[in-house]
Amino acid sequence: MNCIFCKIAAGEIPSAKVYEDESVLAFKDLNPAAPVHVLVIPKAHIESLDCVNGENIDLVSKVISAIPVVAKAAGLENGYRVITNIGEDGGQTVKHLHFHVLGGTKLTEKLN
Ligand code: AMP
Ligand code: ZN
Repeated sequence: MNCIFCKIAAGEIPSAKVYEDESVLAFKDLNPAAPVHVLVIPKAHIESLDCVNGENIDLVSKVISAIPVVAKAAGLENGYRVITNIGEDGGQTVKHLHFHVLGGTKLTEKLN
């Protein structure tokens, strides 16, 4: 599959890793939208949150459980924001489930 995040998870494309376990990887976004901008992904391919089902929910819960660990490791002690874009209208450009973890400043209330 020609998926850039699968290639990052496989180590075929380099990334600035901030967290890794057997199922989850977190790495710095190449084009940060905040002082801290980390992407948290399952190593196995899931297209988006819209594809979560009974088969992959255990993996997705591991990804979500990693988010506070990633936030702590990144020094986000005063809060942060988690975003996942889904599909065309959601602005998803990489079709591999990822959670944006944003922080390191007081974020605006704008959501669109
Ligand atoms: P989205 O628009 O939600 O699909 O987000 C995709 C994100 O992946 C964007 O914020 C990109 O900056 C980021 N991105 C794309 N390629 C890479 C890469 N090779 N390493 C790190 N981040 C990337
Ligand atoms: Zn993938």
